[in-house]
Amino acid sequence: MKTYQSWGRYPKIDEDTQDVYHVYPDSFSFPDLNDQAGDSPTFLAYAQGQSYGDVCLNENGILLDTQHLDHFIEYDKEKGILRCDAGVTFENILQLIIHHNWFLPVTPGTKHISVGGAIANDVHGKNHHKAGTFGRYVIKFELLRSNGDRLICSPTENTELFNATIGGLGLTGLINWVEFSLKKIPGSYIEQETIRFKNLKEFYQLSDDSDKDWEYTAAWIDCLATGDELGRGLFIRGNHCESKKKHKFKSSKLSVPFDAPGFFLNKYTIKVLNHLYFKRPIKQFSKIDYEPFFYPLDSIENWNRLYGKRGFMQYQCLIPTDNREAAMLDMLTLITQSRQGSFFSLLKQFGDIESPGLLSFPRPGITFALDFPNRGQKTLDLLNELDTITLKYSGSVYPAKDARMSATSFSQYYPRWNEFKKCIDPHFSSNFHRRISST
Ligand SMILES: Cc1cc2nc3c(=O)[nH]c(=O)nc-3n(C[C@H](O)[C@H](O)[C@H](O)COP(=O)(O)OP(=O)(O)OC[C@H]3O[C@@H](n4cnc5c(N)ncnc54)[C@H](O)[C@@H]3O)c2cc1C
Repeated sequence: MKTYQSWGRYPKIDEDTQDVYHVYPDSFSFPDLNDQAGDSPTFLAYAQGQSYGDVCLNENGILLDTQHLDHFIEYDKEKGILRCDAGVTFENILQLIIHHNWFLPVTPGTKHISVGGAIANDVHGKNHHKAGTFGRYVIKFELLRSNGDRLICSPTENTELFNATIGGLGLTGLINWVEFSLKKIPGSYIEQETIRFKNLKEFYQLSDDSDKDWEYTAAWIDCLATGDELGRGLFIRGNHCESKKKHKFKSSKLSVPFDAPGFFLNKYTIKVLNHLYFKRPIKQFSKIDYEPFFYPLDSIENWNRLYGKRGFMQYQCLIPTDNREAAMLDMLTLITQSRQGSFFSLLKQFGDIESPGLLSFPRPGITFALDFPNRGQKTLDLLNELDTITLKYSGSVYPAKDARMSATSFSQYYPRWNEFKKCIDPHFSSNFHRRISST
């Protein structure tokens, strides 16, 4: 049976506290609601639940499950423009377009997300420095408000709601369908280069040198390395290229069948895994299919179960370019001292292409993402200390990955919140929304 949790499985939601309505194209309408929100329940769209924290959760409210909003409406193969229901997943889109040499303009590290979710969190990918966020490619969408209005939003029509809904965390209403542009590619393969780097200084150099000629860049780092090797890791860069073979769609063979015991990922195993991953033999140049390049984690179904029943928390922050050296030094020192390591520690340099979204997360600088097994208060304390560093260096934290930032931190990270607030649908809310609105 489908469960309505988030990917990090923290916070754990008692399923009985969330009602679920299934949304079908063109037939869904809200019940009669008072003009003002009050005692009536709140609504929130729930798509694939691939958000790590609580932006997709709505305890004591109603989730609008969009899995049946799964139809393609119009596909212009010549121009590369697609209109589809908001619940269509990136995986479904790739199955339709890849053999015509089209690709998603921006994709995150999983293909199991919906177009609605991609807009609501204004997702970014390894090409942020070249392409910006997904929201930049949205031509228009239909937004259903709880008063029954169906509004077409675009850069020229209902512009305020267009800009608020991109990165609007699902709070402005239900997106029914979306039209967006695709990216032309020579084939389904990627020309990839993998480079081992000794420390953060080398990472910055590689990022700066690669951003001009490489469409996709990102790095994995060993967050527990110290001294001269602080921030050592593997840098990956790639460009689309012609394919040797036609892409074959297959579902993942590996799956984590049950929750790993809580001690499976502990400070010792994480240290060893980091070391082994850094030292593993690498092939510097390769031509590979797009799937392992963009979606390596999708090859293991339910990998979030490796963190055990208590789940895990991701911390993804953005640090402006001028402060990157000092902030990364402080963060890595703190993480090593805390003896709470992360195996998935990713670094990526964002570019300066602006998104239309009022609350979009990316800005010029570097983004650092880490996954921590949930060890209760100890982990929350560490993430609060990371917040102190992020705030000190004028950074921000990504809501799609968050389950615990305070209202005070959020208001400093997102100064346009007050401007955004007037676009919130009065009958929409989420656990995340209530937390960051509390005083
Ligand atoms: C392995 C993995 C890797 C990831 N890598 C990245 C990455 O590289 N970059 C990145 O940016 N993100 C990344 N993410 C996060 C993910 O891309 C986002 O959280 C995305 O928004 C999830 O989409 P979803 O369809 O699962 O939406 P959900 O998680 O179900 O919902 C997310 C938000 O979208 C809203 N929403 C969904 N559908 C609609 C709709 N029809 N109308 C209005 N609001 C709607 C929901 O209310 C909620 O606020 C990753 C996640 C995973 C699990």
